[in-house]
Amino acid sequence: MSVAILGGGLSGLSAAYYLLKSNGKLSIRILEGSSRLGGWIRSNKLDNGVIFEEGPRTIRPRGLAGDNTLSLVQDLGLEDRITPIYAHQPAAKNRMVYAKGKLHSLPSSFGGLFKTTPPFSKPLIMYLLNDIIASSKRVEDESIYDFVNRRFGQDLADYLISPLICGICAGDSKEISVNFLMKGLFEYEQKYGSIYKGLVRNLFNVEKHELSELGVKAKREKWSVYSFKTGLETLPKTIESHVRSRGVPIELNSKCTKLQLSPNNVQIQLGNKMVAPEHLISSISSQELSRLVRDQHPVLSDLLGNIRNVTVAVINLQFGNLRLREGFGFLVPPKERLPVLGVIFDSCCFPCGDDRTVLTVMMGGAWFGRLFGDDPGEEELLSTAQKYLKVTMGVEEAPREWKVSVLRDCIPQYTVGHDGWVREIYRYIEANRLPLTLCGSSYHGVGVNDVIYSSRNAAESVCKSINAMK
Ligand SMILES: Cc1cc2nc3c(=O)[nH]c(=O)nc-3n(C[C@H](O)[C@H](O)[C@H](O)COP(=O)(O)OP(=O)(O)OC[C@H]3O[C@@H](n4cnc5c(N)ncnc54)[C@H](O)[C@@H]3O)c2cc1C
Repeated sequence: MSVAILGGGLSGLSAAYYLLKSNGKLSIRILEGSSRLGGWIRSNKLDNGVIFEEGPRTIRPRGLAGDNTLSLVQDLGLEDRITPIYAHQPAAKNRMVYAKGKLHSLPSSFGGLFKTTPPFSKPLIMYLLNDIIASSKRVEDESIYDFVNRRFGQDLADYLISPLICGICAGDSKEISVNFLMKGLFEYEQKYGSIYKGLVRNLFNVEKHELSELGVKAKREKWSVYSFKTGLETLPKTIESHVRSRGVPIELNSKCTKLQLSPNNVQIQLGNKMVAPEHLISSISSQELSRLVRDQHPVLSDLLGNIRNVTVAVINLQFGNLRLREGFGFLVPPKERLPVLGVIFDSCCFPCGDDRTVLTVMMGGAWFGRLFGDDPGEEELLSTAQKYLKVTMGVEEAPREWKVSVLRDCIPQYTVGHDGWVREIYRYIEANRLPLTLCGSSYHGVGVNDVIYSSRNAAESVCKSINAMK
């Protein structure tokens, strides 16, 4: 059986890895549209040794998907190249928001819940207790902002959840579905009338899974998040060597311009070349896939097109030692109406010399077009980033090194209705018996762990259906 994987980002590469693991006899090829692999993961190493991460920079070790990644990392022999941030370090403990003209540290301990910490006007516990008296409302889906506002109050929606959504998916919490981050809590409310009632009823129903060896180590050593000493791109690069060394051909500059999918038939148009595998795993964004199937499957195309992506400007900067307050960085609530989504203190997370401070400013996201138009110049983005570093942190020094990147349509938005569209997409593929399996960040989570896990599920489901046909 021949399987083509569309896209050579982390999910496409992982899909190849898991296909090989499940069935060594498959004929697999990866078709990548650009001239490099890794997709949004790009670790740019400067001549002075500093690494500018353009896309993701840390991975969470927790949960089923987090442990799955650790298991992959271990299988790839990358254990010694990990650099964790431990729970006791300032980069794990000090996460800030910029609000009401100042930087505020968010409570990081149980005791912190009982103190009034600005920008909140009362102790966090008071907001949390509000859930007990708040009336419930039966809804199919709603925005995460509305849900948190209803259950815990507006302060928490404005100063905790909204900046968090900016940090995770550069999105607007008033549009993002509650299921994106709080599916379990939302289900508790819908089923039991309040989150607390749901938590109490399910106290002993916590799902446990056996941890991988590296997962046990991460838990024992209390890793908060981790990366690799040579940057996060180490992960896709190592998967690439793994799959290449096992004979998987990787075709760069092979952009699919059209797809024909019918039962038992796939035709992939690559410029003026046609490829016809027996099955296709698509790891590209739903937005791009929507364009490719529009002519033949307009209904599927509309469903896929509902999941749109936003653009983020990433400005990596290296200064001399700025002697900043230590922490992971800060996020900016959209209520503050600043063009900045957040600033990461890279050199505090992963130190790179006493005489250097490295920061990353993220801008735009759901507000990119309104803030910067279609095609902002590098100069404009750099000077905006510098202006707001001065406003928020008082940084006056000019950077010694910098890199401005505009990541077009880089993060999918799981807006209200997302889960329903994904169900419909799967139903359409099944009902029409299309030889197509989906993975990547558009469907079941936008983080590194989610996309690797989605690729594992995609590969295993392809192998299962092959076995069923035998
Ligand atoms: C700025 C930013 C910061 C992030 N930070 C974090 C973080 O700290 N932690 C975390 O867990 N996650 C983070 N993420 C999310 C993480 O980067 C993504 O989940 C992950 O990289 C997605 O990988 P992917 O392979 O699914 O998609 P992509 O990286 O988009 O890969 C898709 C590939 O398909 C190719 N392609 C597209 N169209 C075609 C076509 N028509 N034909 C052939 N090939 C095509 C593309 O060139 C690309 O190589 C961040 C994302 C961004 C953008």
